[in-house]
Amino acid sequence: MSKIRTAFFCQSCGYESAKWNGKCPSCGQWNTFVEERVQKDTPAKQEWKTNDNPLARTQKIISLSEVQTIAEKRLLTPDNELNRVLGGGIVAGSLVLVGGEPGIGKSTLFLQNALQLKDVKTLYISGEESEQQIKMRADRIRASNEQFYLLTETSTQTIFQEIKKLQPQLVIVDSIQTLQSPFIESAPGSVSQIRETTAELQRFAKESNTPVFLIGHITKDGSIAGPKVLEHMVDTVLQFEGDQHYAYRILRTIKNRFGSTAELGIYEMTGTGLRQVTNPSEILISQRDDLLSGVAISATMEGMRPLLVEVQALVTQSVYGTPQRTATGFDLRRLQLLLAVLEKRGGFHFGVKDVFLNIAGGIRVEDPAIDLAVLCALLSSYEDNALPNKVCFAGEVGLSGEIRAVNRIEQRIAEAEKLGFDKIFISRYNKKGIDFSKFNIEVIAVGRVEEVYQQLF
Ligand SMILES: [Zn+2]
Repeated sequence: MSKIRTAFFCQSCGYESAKWNGKCPSCGQWNTFVEERVQKDTPAKQEWKTNDNPLARTQKIISLSEVQTIAEKRLLTPDNELNRVLGGGIVAGSLVLVGGEPGIGKSTLFLQNALQLKDVKTLYISGEESEQQIKMRADRIRASNEQFYLLTETSTQTIFQEIKKLQPQLVIVDSIQTLQSPFIESAPGSVSQIRETTAELQRFAKESNTPVFLIGHITKDGSIAGPKVLEHMVDTVLQFEGDQHYAYRILRTIKNRFGSTAELGIYEMTGTGLRQVTNPSEILISQRDDLLSGVAISATMEGMRPLLVEVQALVTQSVYGTPQRTATGFDLRRLQLLLAVLEKRGGFHFGVKDVFLNIAGGIRVEDPAIDLAVLCALLSSYEDNALPNKVCFAGEVGLSGEIRAVNRIEQRIAEAEKLGFDKIFISRYNKKGIDFSKFNIEVIAVGRVEEVYQQLF
């Protein structure tokens, strides 16, 4: 029998210490150390060696020019959004972590994809739901697949025994927080368990060349529950985001060893599962005929994709002494900054007004190019004067009221044109070196907030 020892783990970053610490020396968080039982012996290596396993070769020094370029074989799923976010399909032997808040639809997304992969033997390991529950979910999606196998088990050793029998081509684990390795004494979901079970699955993925997806729940502060170390162990980290009250979901790449991290997939949650949204701009702009004050459209970029979003603002007389500021889908401090710019540079008295800002569709926009649309929506509501129809905006606003250049301006203009807009306001500094004659849309270049105001009101 090997000796059982305990160690203290930071629940935030996974830092291991022999004694308890008040403050984590690694990530600086307070009160994050929890004692966990660990076993000294590292588990015996699993036997996953197959003939085509590149890791089984004995390694020797080789000149880089001797290394043959082998085209990466990627498994394409029927879901183009997922393929794109992964950098062009699933890479053999890759370990992918998918994070998201509970109940947002992570299981639905992967169950749906697995059920649609008709020629791929897929093993779906569930530690969360029973076979009956998964069957019901599959019936709701209205999909069935002979090559789809289900295992409700949480012990990694049992899982590996079953994997050996089935020899799946793709493994999905729902969720990593429920798995338990018999080599580690602590409870499922603890730092040492998550780390050990992920390490075992990583070994399996690399040695058998089988892609493995790990579904993981996210804590309230937005990080993947358990340790950050998990993110270092996997090849790709995806995040599934959205508001439970809205239908739209965004799949974002946080880290990717096999592609860009600027990719993004958009889905709509329907009664029969998730639907890929191929033209997101159309759904994010509400359809209406009459003009309303306080509404402005922004040509933003989400990753590599242009996306037109609707900004809604409501400016009202403040009833209480302290005016309220509320922002949904937009950074509140950024809103306060833009209000200060309008107050100082434009002489608008927002100090006595309540201000509410909302990005339609329940999405969150980080792109600074949305500033100009936010500012125009605020002014439109302040003046109670609707902006002209078919006008959109793309520009960052600086502290002195200048409209600053933004990246990928041509893509933004092209998207606005495609969606039938007549005019787009951009920064004067974006004009350089761009041939606007190829666009049918009118491009209005502005330098300062005052100029925008004069043009619009
Ligand atoms: Zn820490």
